[in-house]
Amino acid sequence: MAENAIEIEGLRKVYAASGGEKPKLALKGIDLNIPAGSIFGLLGPNGAGKSTLINILAGLVVKTAGRVRIWGFDQDVNPRQSRAAIGVMPQELNMDPFFTARASLDVQAGLYGVPKAQRRTAEILEMIGLTDKADAYARTLSGGMRRRLLLGKALVHQPRILVLDEPTAGVDIELRQMLWANVRKLNAAGTTIILTTHYLEEAEEMCDEIAIINHGAVIARDSTAALLQRLDAKTLVIVPEGEVPHLPAVPGATSVTRRGDGALIFDYRRGRITAGAILDAVRAAGIVVRDVSSADPNLEDVFLSLTSGALAAEAAQ
Ligand code: ADP
Ligand code: MG
Repeated sequence: MAENAIEIEGLRKVYAASGGEKPKLALKGIDLNIPAGSIFGLLGPNGAGKSTLINILAGLVVKTAGRVRIWGFDQDVNPRQSRAAIGVMPQELNMDPFFTARASLDVQAGLYGVPKAQRRTAEILEMIGLTDKADAYARTLSGGMRRRLLLGKALVHQPRILVLDEPTAGVDIELRQMLWANVRKLNAAGTTIILTTHYLEEAEEMCDEIAIINHGAVIARDSTAALLQRLDAKTLVIVPEGEVPHLPAVPGATSVTRRGDGALIFDYRRGRITAGAILDAVRAAGIVVRDVSSADPNLEDVFLSLTSGALAAEAAQ
């Protein structure tokens, strides 16, 4: 087993100018390793570059520069092997409406060169819950069923790596549960899973490791547990009576800053100091406290603080 399912070095993508649009730098030189066997989350706001990254992995978008290895195979040196190692469930619901569900899976298997005898069409139909729709045309399937079919298509060649691009954006709870149950089963059987999402709870629940991507760059990369530990970071906002000439020294606080309106912002870690101790230190410095508020950050805040500036500024609004 490869140690890393995916190895990405210096990956850049510039979409060429078209129709009056300027060229778009979508990926700014990304380095990222994704360990084999994990459920890996690629998190980021709309336009961050998640689909671009995934579509490059899938061979659907041509990179501008950089190196991509999939299951040890360099995409440029061994395109066939690297393509065979990965299956992608795309974000967009594009499929051939004139094929039946069964035919869609068969055609896809053919594209990947899976011999007839080795096709698992019936098994896949069962897994995605479309056995009774096997002979229905894709255009007659509901949105949720089409999505399930897209998952099935990603699996026809039994890829070691399964990539799901925003699989649950706008889907109902039932489909979401069905997807996650399948993802967990595939992962338990050894498939490396990469999923993009902008739902933080989802990443928290599903993923062992997370990379946060914004404006075409990876801004955080950690185990989910370590990212959650950042939640230990808290913020206390103290509004003083009148103007405070000097910021009080509070040993134990991570940082002390002054907001535009004069409020004092204390970033601290729950494990190191309490809000009460900070208040005591502020009063001991001779500051009269008019108002106090605190913010309980969650992964959303960590995300916001990484993507749009200081946590303190967020908390203070
Ligand atoms: P995400 O999946 O994180 O929402 P995308 O990878 O789809 O982000 O897009 C990243 C950036 O690249 C965005 O600014 C988007 O507008 C731009 N982009 C994506 N696809 C194209 C394309 N085919 N041509 C030009 N620009 C594109
Ligand atoms: Mg996308």
